[in-house]
Amino acid sequence: MKKPLITIIGSINMDLITNTTKFPLQGETVIGGFFKMLPGGKGANQAISASRLGGQVQFIGCVGDDQFGTELKKVLHDEGIHLRVKPVTGESSGVATIILSEGDNRIIVTPGANDCVDVNYLETLKEEILKSDLVLVQFEIPLQSIKYILELCHDNEIPLIVNPAPAKKLELEEWMRAAVITPNETEATELFGELKDFRKHPIAQKLVVTQGKEGAAYLENEMFNCIPTFSVDAIDTTGAGDTFNGALAVAMTEGQSLKEAIKFANGAAALSVQKLGAQSGMPTRKELEIFLKKEGV
Ligand code: AMP
Repeated sequence: MKKPLITIIGSINMDLITNTTKFPLQGETVIGGFFKMLPGGKGANQAISASRLGGQVQFIGCVGDDQFGTELKKVLHDEGIHLRVKPVTGESSGVATIILSEGDNRIIVTPGANDCVDVNYLETLKEEILKSDLVLVQFEIPLQSIKYILELCHDNEIPLIVNPAPAKKLELEEWMRAAVITPNETEATELFGELKDFRKHPIAQKLVVTQGKEGAAYLENEMFNCIPTFSVDAIDTTGAGDTFNGALAVAMTEGQSLKEAIKFANGAAALSVQKLGAQSGMPTRKELEIFLKKEGV
């Protein structure tokens, strides 16, 4: 049987991570500790999560015409993801410059080529998007593109998961075009206000709000119920939300109920936080199945 096609449209970044004992002041130079270069970007992370969990994934994005672009594409290709990634002439790849110091961080995100995932580019891939059984998008590409994808998926009855990270506001009628909206707690409050005041709002039934180590909440019998996640020793929660979203997409295309899909996604994210780095901790389908069985799910 042909596997459902999941299209993920979003950002790809190279994360440049330097650790130091002291953040430099203006004009100051300090000596760093370790340096690491790790592939990231919410779009790419979610694509890897879905692919490792057995989804057939098509990824749409842009990189720069630089070395990072070549490397970032290779990482996704090696995961078995079908790439529709354009190298943009004269543009840099997306980069996150991260300074870590004593548990604190300072980050500069340079969108670079991610800003080129615009409506014109998406128009050229319209036929490919329309082949999807489900589309997943985050907010690290231009907002106009998000609006275009919402309309395209809605008009063609393709379920769309919108992960509004980082939070940006849309009109009510635009949110209503999504099948599922997956903010974390901070984004949910910023976009929609207090959840308990929000139960009767038309968007409420589309919301799956991730709540860190608590799990994720959704509306059941007019109440936001948190589906608890698994108790694990978390080492690094970077990318937990991305793992969750990729897993949710896979579960939904397999016809799991929203509640079952959230449990599946909680399991995948709980495994991912036990390893350092966003992508390195993302489980394979087999690893997740063994874990869920052990946990009695
Ligand atoms: P967040 O973006 O922090 O809300 O996390 C997304 C998802 O990752 C949550 O809904 C959980 O499923 C999972 N998660 C995050 N932090 C932890 C943790 N410390 N332990 C287990 N699961 C976690």
